Amino acid sequence: MLWSINVGRIAGTEVRLHITFLLFLAWIFVASYISGGPAEAWSGLVFLVLLFLCVLAHEFGHIFTARAFGVATPDVTLLPIGGVARLERIPEVPREEFLIAIAGPLVNVAIALLLVVVVGASVDPRHLSAVENAQVSMIDRLAVVNLFIAAFNMIPAFPMDGGRILRAALAARLGMGRATELAASIGQWTAFALGFIGLLFNPLLIFIAIFVYLAAGSEAQVVALRLMSRDVPVRDAMITQFATLAPTAQIDEAVDTLFRTSQGEFPVVDADGKLIGLLGKGELIRALKQLGPDARVAEAMTVDIPAIGQRTRLEDAFKLLQEKSAPAVAVVDPFGKLVGLVTPETLGEMLMVRDAMPRGARMGPWSRAAGA
Ligand SMILES: [Zn+2]
Repeated sequence: MLWSINVGRIAGTEVRLHITFLLFLAWIFVASYISGGPAEAWSGLVFLVLLFLCVLAHEFGHIFTARAFGVATPDVTLLPIGGVARLERIPEVPREEFLIAIAGPLVNVAIALLLVVVVGASVDPRHLSAVENAQVSMIDRLAVVNLFIAAFNMIPAFPMDGGRILRAALAARLGMGRATELAASIGQWTAFALGFIGLLFNPLLIFIAIFVYLAAGSEAQVVALRLMSRDVPVRDAMITQFATLAPTAQIDEAVDTLFRTSQGEFPVVDADGKLIGLLGKGELIRALKQLGPDARVAEAMTVDIPAIGQRTRLEDAFKLLQEKSAPAVAVVDPFGKLVGLVTPETLGEMLMVRDAMPRGARMGPWSRAAGA
């Protein structure tokens, strides 16, 4: 995530703090210093740090469960509104998604139970409105806040854990596509309700509502794309007309090509037509600025572009785009020669075409049974 700093690794997952998180800590410290003096400032800071350790533990609940199902978890970022654990994919088996989603809130329930049973914390809902009140014991406040985090995350709206739990429960009966549509619209209605409550009581809820509303929509779109791309052979959807660059070409030649075509990404191929990299518009401009027009394309290109065979499904290309966050996926023939490209725009165009089609109509060439 942009604007975040790496503070170390826990069990192989990088832990990052977003810069706004640090500003938030500093702001709380200064504000309580002014209102209550140094003692209150320090105790406020200690409480927040403990609170965010609980949030981190919640995220690691997701992370360890995801790993048990073979999902890679490169990093987790702490923001003032909570934590975000990055999973390379969301499992399509409803039971797995369910367990990954519920593991987070369960961690907070477990922490609250531990505080009550082992340390003797007393849980009083009234403490929720006084989480910053130094008169109430810190342990009591932590216990009640952990229960609040668990309950809040169970709100049935993407990207909250409750939204995923709902989708998984629906998917077991209705299938992934229908379940996502339903869960997304329930999520958007919930977002409306949250926004309304926010308007009356707490402006922070309005931000969360907007975030939830947008996330629900994009989750629905991603799943629609994935399901649609399942039936499409990659060679029916890939871009086959594009300009390529030689690795030895100069940056100014690449600029010429940029003007001649409407491409934003240029495959870099060797003399045998094998793909060795990709030069994007952004990298091209950066290279022009930093290395000058005489630099070689090979110095500026991105290497390690994922490649798949012609006989695979578009879904595989889509998964690679998501998992590797690559700018494009190369489609190659059995000899490794580049024959096509799939970019996020390809998929966006397909979705637009699908949305414009009358209900029930199948999409053009893709509906023909392909020999693959
Ligand atoms: Zn969670």
